[in-house]
Amino acid sequence: MSTSTETSGSDRPLDFIRQIVDQDQKSGKHSVPVTRFPPEPNGFLHIGHAKSICLNFGISNEYRGRCHLRFDDTNPSKEEVEYVESIKADVQWLGFDWQDHLYFASDYFDKLYDYAEQLIHRGKAYVCDLSADEIRNYRGTLTEPGKDSPYRGRSVEENLELFRKMRDGAYAEGSRVLRAKIDMSSPAIVMRDPVLYRIVYASHHRTGDKWCIYPMYDFTHCLSDMLEEITHSLCTLEFQDNRLLYDWVLDTLETPCHPRQIEFARLNLTYTVMSKRKLLQLVDEYHVDGWDDPRMLTISGLRRRGFTPNSIRKFCDLIGIGKKQSWIDMGVLENAVRDDLNETAPRVMGVLEPLKVVIDNYPEDMDEEITAQNHPQKPEMGTRILPFSRELYIERNDFMEEPPRKFFRLGPGREVRLRYGYYITCVSYEKDADGNVTLLHCTYDPETKGGTSTDGRKVKGTIHWVSAKDAVDGKVYLYDRLFDVEHPDGDKDVDFKTHLNPESRKILEGCKLEPSLAEIEAGVQVQFERQGYYCLDAVLSTPGKPVFNRVVTLRDSWAKIK
Ligand code: ATP
Ligand code: MG
Repeated sequence: MSTSTETSGSDRPLDFIRQIVDQDQKSGKHSVPVTRFPPEPNGFLHIGHAKSICLNFGISNEYRGRCHLRFDDTNPSKEEVEYVESIKADVQWLGFDWQDHLYFASDYFDKLYDYAEQLIHRGKAYVCDLSADEIRNYRGTLTEPGKDSPYRGRSVEENLELFRKMRDGAYAEGSRVLRAKIDMSSPAIVMRDPVLYRIVYASHHRTGDKWCIYPMYDFTHCLSDMLEEITHSLCTLEFQDNRLLYDWVLDTLETPCHPRQIEFARLNLTYTVMSKRKLLQLVDEYHVDGWDDPRMLTISGLRRRGFTPNSIRKFCDLIGIGKKQSWIDMGVLENAVRDDLNETAPRVMGVLEPLKVVIDNYPEDMDEEITAQNHPQKPEMGTRILPFSRELYIERNDFMEEPPRKFFRLGPGREVRLRYGYYITCVSYEKDADGNVTLLHCTYDPETKGGTSTDGRKVKGTIHWVSAKDAVDGKVYLYDRLFDVEHPDGDKDVDFKTHLNPESRKILEGCKLEPSLAEIEAGVQVQFERQGYYCLDAVLSTPGKPVFNRVVTLRDSWAKIK
């Protein structure tokens, strides 16, 4: 028997779903687990979907099973091919492989139709002429039973004839539906004669105009799982009641295989909205630049922002799988990418808000090449060359005209270390008519090359810099959380968009970057020393004019605010 001390590759106990899969494998009930990820192609995938993808594909990898990618495409009016392609790309990018198990619920439309006729033959489904409103009124509430439809008693022959006519386009949209005949007083509302088929005159992205009736999700889903011989059908808790219907359909049809549905708690993340409907609103109303806006918690947004697949998988592993609804703090996701990039991102120097420095005693015609480590803790990541010359840029906020005692950077008469360079001392500065500091005059100590003094003299501050004539001009987008409250959609009476964070994107033009950054590829992450992790934007960058997105700051700046 499986115990909770067994592990799934990481060093934690198995979650309750893996315990079931593990037992089923050991007992021989299912020696090969078969799972599936079943997105509806009506939007882009978000971080919540990543949890489900990591669970389903993760189990298949760990237990040498397989995981199907199945598009639940039963709603022709909301679905688009663009979404299908983006979903496939996202699953692959996350590092998962469905091999040759790519399916579409629409591939089963013929079979589903046959199953519907079988239900009619068994006296378990009927054509109902009530309108959608009437069906709702007849359904009852959580405290009151529903009422039988006046069409519930139709004969098998009449139902068959009407259903076939529905299929053949004899009736108007909304005029009739096929319903399961279960129990109008069931405590579970989903069992009160749910609709199985509806009339929709819309072209489907795969079946074209072949059908004008489309099966409902609940009917489609369990039969698709069954047809694919899924062993463990994993879904989120809100489908708990639907399991009754799922089991009813398969039991009533006496199908040869009966997948087991198991529910787990969905991912809820603070400072964001997760529903595709709300994400779509942000896109449609131009609150963001598209589904892949780097502030969106979509997989494509996270990718463009610079999150790594590894960081998302680690995050999903960390939050685990349980049965209890809970909230995960956005800081956990940000930490996951911070930890990952801390290991892998080369260190570089970029001055985001530049202030020019002239080193008065550095020869005008001298150039030096300084060797800098790409990762101080990882010598195997190698080194690179930084040009050094008389004129440099430093960060504007690394200088203060009247610095307080604890400010260990530059001020008049103060000395700092230039990272990998020399000690410099500020001797004077220039200002413009508005009182802004425009130029620092410094001197350097030639005896401090490499950042250490020969006389044992110590300086507390080390600042980053870029040689002015060698600098690459770049643009930097400082991204922050899209919403400025923990639960933007927490109050039904308040539009979630009123909580959009006005500071979620700050654009810095005229940044001065070290020359190695002219050559890096889109999608590659680096750490700008002292600033954070950045990723070259694939869409906005042009040759010689890099645009960087801030993935995440070096520390969690929100932790302090709260
Ligand atoms: P949304 O509510 O955002 O529109 P959805 O559930 O309608 O999402 P589907 O395309 O039906 O989107 O989802 C595919 C799979 O992803 C389902 O199995 C669903 O349970 C799972 N899923 C969706 N959102 C989450 C989430 N926040 N956490 C975990 N799994 C999720
Ligand atoms: Mg759904």
